[in-house]
Amino acid sequence: MQVFHSDAHIQHAPPFEIFDGGEKIPNFESPERMERILAALRSSGNFEILPPEDFGLTPILAIHDQGYLDFLASAYAEWMQEPTPYEKSALIPATFPPGGWRNHIPTSVLGKAGYYVMDLAAPIAAGTFSAALASANCALSGAAALAAGSRAIFALCRPPGHHAGRANCGGYCYLNNAAIAAQWLSRHGNVAILDIDYHAGNGTQEIFFSRADVLTISLHADPNEEYPYFAGYADETGAGAGLGFHRNFPLPLGADDALYLQTLSQACELIRAFAPQALVVSAGMDIYGEDPLGRIRVSREGISQIGKMIAGLNLPTLVVMEGGYNNDALGKNVVAFLSSFPA
Ligand SMILES: [Zn+2]
Repeated sequence: MQVFHSDAHIQHAPPFEIFDGGEKIPNFESPERMERILAALRSSGNFEILPPEDFGLTPILAIHDQGYLDFLASAYAEWMQEPTPYEKSALIPATFPPGGWRNHIPTSVLGKAGYYVMDLAAPIAAGTFSAALASANCALSGAAALAAGSRAIFALCRPPGHHAGRANCGGYCYLNNAAIAAQWLSRHGNVAILDIDYHAGNGTQEIFFSRADVLTISLHADPNEEYPYFAGYADETGAGAGLGFHRNFPLPLGADDALYLQTLSQACELIRAFAPQALVVSAGMDIYGEDPLGRIRVSREGISQIGKMIAGLNLPTLVVMEGGYNNDALGKNVVAFLSSFPA
């Protein structure tokens, strides 16, 4: 299987995050994650790792807001110029506008951070924007390979993307790689996005909520109990022309392999009925039972079965890397997931 990956991700290494609104800790979403996955892919011998092509900003602007991209591009340099006596290794917001307070986009960097960043887990460091662009290019390169006839491609993206909305970053995500790839593929016909990350894919949900040509489905921990809290509920099913073309499957904390696979089979039925010409999978391995950020209990064998069920849809499939934070298990889990897809 061809894998698109860029070393540019290393430039994105914010030294901290504020975890669950409390402690300042080293960022869970670390460059080491990619080293572990690459090592597992290489040792399996079944993967060809390729650098991405540069698609420029046009396909990214088809999903993301220009003002937001300008903010991502300049935020770190602007933050470094701010006169404060404190450590400034990465930018996080200090203020979040409540609903209805979004009539003005401030020009100050902290004002813009409040406007464009949804939480304390998307710090913007020196190389964040260039790494995010390279990550999006991995997904786009995978989409192009699919359009050229490949049956299954793995975009080993970092930073991940599914929490990034049209004009916001959050949850370790800056550009929505899966959405950018799906948009690119949608020029050729209908596309489905299946998000199996532990956390609800709120960014993907928002981006395609009013569209009928991109079916979006997310299986995730119940947002009433778990991040991102404000999206991912079962009654959110799309709007306008997109009504019925978004589905959320919230799972109870502690969900096991059997419940996960039973729920996934319902999602797969919806995808079969939609009959897309391509499938994009937002693949987060934080569903794994021993993930430090997850509270559902899928085993490695379960992850392998999930891969098998999705591969059984027999669609041209682009697998896009999202979360997964148990570094000791991450590489093996990714290989277990990918093993059922055609080479
Ligand atoms: Zn996640």
